[in-house]
Amino acid sequence: MNPTEFADVIVVGGGSCGCVVAARLSENPDRSVLLLEAGPAFSGVADIPAALLDASTLPIGPGSEWVGTYPAELAAGVSRTIARGRVLGGSGAVNGGYFIRATPGDFDAWPQSAWSFDQVLPFYIGSETDLDAGARGRWHGTRGPMPVSRAPMQDRHPLTAAFVDSATNAGFRFREDMNSPDAAAGGVGIVPSNVVDGTRVSAALAYLLPVAGRKNLRVQGNSTVASLMFKGNRVIGVEIIVDGVRRVVESDTVVVSAGAVHTPALLLRSGIGPSEGSAALGISVIADSPGVGHGFSDHPEVAVPFVTKNDRSTPSPALEAVLHAGEVEIRPYTRRFDQLISGLSRVPHVFGVGLMRSTARGSITLRSTDPFEAPDVRYRYLESDGDRRAMRGGVELARELLASPSMAVEVEVPAIDDPLAALGTSLHMSGSAKMGPESDPESVLDDHCRVRGVDGVFVVDTSAFPVVPSRGPHATAIMFAERAVALMGVEPAE
Ligand SMILES: Cc1cc2nc3c(=O)[nH]c(=O)nc-3n(C[C@H](O)[C@H](O)[C@H](O)COP(=O)(O)OP(=O)(O)OC[C@H]3O[C@@H](n4cnc5c(N)ncnc54)[C@H](O)[C@@H]3O)c2cc1C
Repeated sequence: MNPTEFADVIVVGGGSCGCVVAARLSENPDRSVLLLEAGPAFSGVADIPAALLDASTLPIGPGSEWVGTYPAELAAGVSRTIARGRVLGGSGAVNGGYFIRATPGDFDAWPQSAWSFDQVLPFYIGSETDLDAGARGRWHGTRGPMPVSRAPMQDRHPLTAAFVDSATNAGFRFREDMNSPDAAAGGVGIVPSNVVDGTRVSAALAYLLPVAGRKNLRVQGNSTVASLMFKGNRVIGVEIIVDGVRRVVESDTVVVSAGAVHTPALLLRSGIGPSEGSAALGISVIADSPGVGHGFSDHPEVAVPFVTKNDRSTPSPALEAVLHAGEVEIRPYTRRFDQLISGLSRVPHVFGVGLMRSTARGSITLRSTDPFEAPDVRYRYLESDGDRRAMRGGVELARELLASPSMAVEVEVPAIDDPLAALGTSLHMSGSAKMGPESDPESVLDDHCRVRGVDGVFVVDTSAFPVVPSRGPHATAIMFAERAVALMGVEPAE
């Protein structure tokens, strides 16, 4: 095999899912796997830069070499520049380390043929090693690659402790284990995280780099996949750009794991998408698939500001506890965002209020066929009365908790004019190339992650989720990649 010319399987994107896919598929020594990552890659665990490992900060600030950004419209008149990981490990290499499972009920919206809660639970369990003896038992794994832990009582930030007190005093139940199914009913608890001794453990660190020495696995960084190539409807390879030079790598199996923004963009550039959009950009249509880039979901997040009375800047992870109350998740961030993300100018300390079952459905379209030009991304947040009502209720609850006696020792809460003014996004985008039944014209994938209308192309990343889970998506992304590989049935090379 000449690995630069051909691979049995090409994985596009070395993010959270792509690292799992490449590691699992290369367990078969007879199958050559090429992982192509647009950002930098590393050859071993020891080469991962300290900035990616330090879980007390998010290396996503201005000028970060580990992210790509895209401009997005969150709501009419509200635009933001948004970052995603663009490095081996992807967004999971730069994220907040909050690693919580989706609720059993979240899977009711997934194809029951393969993705019911009972079918996915063994893959959540198999992907993790839960390090907390107290949480072990029926729901947890002890042999999976991804370590999971919860901040021990003595290490918790004072704001975390005060928040948990104020929520339990307000009548919310304390959940010992936010990953057990009964936590789905809501309550406050310490978040499970994939942080061990202050180190953020990405899928690159947990899954891929420990096996990077396999002879049948090649990991190539700084390689942007411009498009998939087809003969008829059969994929025959990908066109990549390395140092400005275009090259072709052949394969009859391509797994697209470029993340929820770039996976639909790559499919669209390759002629898989709504035919009218492709035609307008001069792209030949390979498969008319109206759901590509259409109908994605995420968690709108509103920042609720306050002022701390004490200087408590410790190197804690960004988030140690959360409260689930009806439709919202309240996130008591331990530090100001300018303390968490270098390069930002000073901002107020905030709690985040995330709307976890938002009805907003966004769209991603191409501005051009240039793979380096970010697509047009519109979230359409808070357009419905129900979403605005739920979000206002969440902000009110966050302010009540901040004003409670337990928290009043630590903080003061200023008056605000418009509770929804500080609108952002949780960066949990899902469903931009979703799985679903053939009867749904918007479903891009079948229940085995195969792209409909073509042969040999799979999508394995959060684009494939039918809808964003009502919890942070990272633990579900890892589970998803594990289960998808088990379903794929990719045959070994002859
Ligand atoms: C700053 C931030 C904080 C977050 N915090 C949390 C959190 O605390 N908890 C939580 O649950 N979730 C969190 N998330 C969300 C979570 O990290 C993501 O949902 C998850 O990592 C997505 O995994 P993925 O594999 O779908 O995509 P990604 O991990 O984004 O991987 C996609 C990869 O594909 C590469 N790529 C893209 N286009 C191409 C191309 N054309 N050619 C080659 N490679 C390409 C990218 O460079 C990237 O490495 C956060 C996200 C961000 C951005």
